Amino acid sequence: MDTNLPVSAHPRVVIVGCGFGGLKLAQELADAPVQVVMVDRNNYHNFQPLLYQVATGALEADSIAYPVRKIFAGQKNFFFRMADVKGVAKATNTLETSIGDIRYDYLVLATGSLTNFFGIESIEKNAMQIKSIPNALNLRSFIFQNFEQALLTTDPEEKQALLNIVVVGGGPTGVEISGSLAEMRKHVLPNDYPEMDLTQMQIFLVEAGPALLGPMSKASQEDAKRYLDELGVEVRLNTAMKKYENGRAYYSDTEFIPTENMVWAAGVNGSALPGLPEAAITRNKRITVNLWNQVQGETNIFAIGDVANMVTEEMPRGLPMLAPVAQQQAAHLAANLQRILRGETPKDFKYLDKGVMAIVSRNKAVVDLPKGVHFKGFLGWLSWLFIHLILLVGFRNKMVALVDWAFSYFSSGQALRLIIRPFNKRDVKDDKGKKAAEQAAATPEYNPTPSAVQQPASAG
Ligand SMILES: Cc1cc2nc3c(=O)[nH]c(=O)nc-3n(C[C@H](O)[C@H](O)[C@H](O)COP(=O)(O)OP(=O)(O)OC[C@H]3O[C@@H](n4cnc5c(N)ncnc54)[C@H](O)[C@@H]3O)c2cc1C
Repeated sequence: MDTNLPVSAHPRVVIVGCGFGGLKLAQELADAPVQVVMVDRNNYHNFQPLLYQVATGALEADSIAYPVRKIFAGQKNFFFRMADVKGVAKATNTLETSIGDIRYDYLVLATGSLTNFFGIESIEKNAMQIKSIPNALNLRSFIFQNFEQALLTTDPEEKQALLNIVVVGGGPTGVEISGSLAEMRKHVLPNDYPEMDLTQMQIFLVEAGPALLGPMSKASQEDAKRYLDELGVEVRLNTAMKKYENGRAYYSDTEFIPTENMVWAAGVNGSALPGLPEAAITRNKRITVNLWNQVQGETNIFAIGDVANMVTEEMPRGLPMLAPVAQQQAAHLAANLQRILRGETPKDFKYLDKGVMAIVSRNKAVVDLPKGVHFKGFLGWLSWLFIHLILLVGFRNKMVALVDWAFSYFSSGQALRLIIRPFNKRDVKDDKGKKAAEQAAATPEYNPTPSAVQQPASAG
C-alpha cells in the first residue's frame, strides 16, 4: 500500500500518537523547516483525564475527543495518516504500519501507555478497563445493562453481583471513578430504579498499597479517603486482587466480593513498539531516553510522554506518567529538533512540576501544589473544573462540557444513561481476531501464585 505522502525538500519528522505529547509537538513544529507526518490509530485526540466522566454518564464521548485533521487545518507542513503502527525498522529508517511503510528522518514515539494487568489472565479477560473512549462507553453500557438485569433476577447472590461494583487501583482514576459512581448511586439511581433496593449496591475501591493516591501528600490521601467514606464507598487498603472469574473478585485464595462489574485501574505499562533496542526497554515497557528525549543508543529516534522513561536528579525512578510531562517534553523536543537542524547542541529537559489534583465528587477535590501547598474541598473542585475546562481541545467541547457539568450540578444527576452500545465481554476480540469466549474455552483455569500479584497505586 502506498501512503501517498508528498516529497518534501525538508527533513521528515514522523510522530506516532496524537495524545498530549504528539499533539503539542506537531503544533510546536508548525513554523519549523520540517515536514511533519503524524500517525495515529484513531482520527481524534482523546482527553483521557475525563474518560471516567464518559464512563459514568456525566459527559458525552465527543466532548472529550477532537478530530486530528480539524486541529491541524491550516498547518501547511502537517500530514496525517490514520494507521496502526506495528514496529520500527531502524536499519532503513522506516516505520512499519497497517497502511504500509513510512520513511522518516526523525522519529518521535508518543504512543502513551496500556493497561497493566500484572499478568493476571482472569482479570485481563473479565475486568473492564478505562484507557480509551470505546472502553468508557463499554463500561457505561455494561454497568447500566447489569442494573437492568438485576431487576429481573430473583436469585439474591446474582442480584448482589450485578449491583456491586469493584474498582481496583487507588490512584486518581480509581478514586475519581468510585466517587462518581457513588454520586450516581445517591442522586441518579433512586429516580431511575425506584423498584430497586439500592442499599444492596456496594461500591468497593480496592488498593494493594497502604494509602489512596500514592504519589500525593498525606493530607490529600487522608482527605480523599474521608470523602469516599462519606459517600459510602468501601475502601479496602493493603488488599491485592488475585483473580476474577464467575462473578467473584478474589482478594485471597478463598475470600471474594461478588460482582459482575470490575473496573481495573491498577496500573499502566508503556506502549513501546517492536524494533527498538532491547536494552532501551524497561520492565514496564517504557523506553529509556536521555535528557534530550533521545532513545538510548539511537540518534534520530526520540520518545516523549508516558512511553518515555526519563530519569532526572529529582526523579530517579523516572518522570510520572502525566499529561504535563508529555506536553513539556513535546515543547522542549520541538526546540531541540530545530537546534539539531541548525547544527547546535540540544539542551537538557527540566520538568516544571505544577502540582497534581484529584476530584472525588461534587464540591470535593484534593490539590497538591509545589512547596507543600495543599488545598481541598470546594476550592479544589473549582480549580479542577477550571483547569480541565481550559485544557479541553476545541471551543465546542469546552461549551458542551460546561453545559453538561452545570446540568449535573443543578439537577444532581448525570444526563447520559443511554445503553446505546450494548456491550458483551464475550464479544470482545483480541488482536488476532479471536473472541474472548473462544479464548476462555481454550485457556486452562488460571491459578495465580501470590508473588504474581503486585499492584502499585497508579498515576491515573
Ligand atoms: C483515565 C485516565 C485519567 C487520567 N487522568 C489524568 C489527570 O487527571 N492528570 C494528568 O496529568 N494525567 C492524567 N492521565 C494520564 C495522561 O492522560 C497521560 O499522561 C497522557 O495522556 C500521556 O500523553 P502521551 O502523549 O504520552 O500519550 P497518550 O495521550 O496516551 O496518546 C497516545 C496516542 O498514541 C496512539 N497510539 C498508541 N499506540 C499506537 C500505535 N501502535 N499505532 C498508532 N497509534 C498509536 C493512541 O491512539 C493515542 O492517541 C490519565 C490517564 C487516564 C487513562
